[in-house]
Amino acid sequence: MFEKHCITCNAVLKSDEIPLYKKMVNRGATEYMCIPCLAKKLRVTEESLYEAIERFREMGCTLF
Ligand SMILES: [Zn+2]
Repeated sequence: MFEKHCITCNAVLKSDEIPLYKKMVNRGATEYMCIPCLAKKLRVTEESLYEAIERFREMGCTLF
């Protein structure tokens, strides 16, 4: 599997950041953003995005 990079800051994306972006922005996305950049875009805190990942996991989301 090849690495994906954040389209804003070019950071290497962690495994949770891709499904999070799909959930929060666009299910069909093929380019993604890291959590710090996504937090800025959505005007939320990074913590709230980590909490969202946990919630999706608890819900049994198949993307995570
Ligand atoms: Zn970024």
